[in-house]
Amino acid sequence: MSDIATIQGACRCGQVTFALSARPVVTMACHCVGCQKMSASAFSLSALFPVESFKVTSGEPVIGGLHGEARHYFCPHCMSRLFTRPAGVDAFINVRSTLLDHPEQYAPLMETWTAEKLPWVTTGATRSFPGLPDPQDYPGLMEEYARRSA
Ligand SMILES: [Zn+2]
Ligand SMILES: [Zn+2]
Repeated sequence: MSDIATIQGACRCGQVTFALSARPVVTMACHCVGCQKMSASAFSLSALFPVESFKVTSGEPVIGGLHGEARHYFCPHCMSRLFTRPAGVDAFINVRSTLLDHPEQYAPLMETWTAEKLPWVTTGATRSFPGLPDPQDYPGLMEEYARRSA
């Protein structure tokens, strides 16, 4: 554990900051229409972390997006989309990787919802799923990510 430096993240305005004490377990790009709208771009980029490694260090994130079962948290001031607590997933938190220091380190291993992808988009991800991966795909994806980032 002691060799893992804390990863810092912040929203656009800096009111909300957060820290992670573990490495991501997997990184991804999501092409779903919801991500296209919420990111005001072609896709969203995120990194999945063990939830216990995550801590908000300043500011008070608020719920945004659809206010549905998946809880999307935003900065109350600059409205940056920060992180998601996916519905039914308690062990992991999905953090927008472009908010992290050194976002270039979190190239997406996989891409999801390619069925809704804008036709001219490429992400460099090496694993593609038309929707979400099956739950049983995750151990293999995490293993591959750990191997690749070792
Ligand atoms: Zn902000
Ligand atoms: Zn999405």
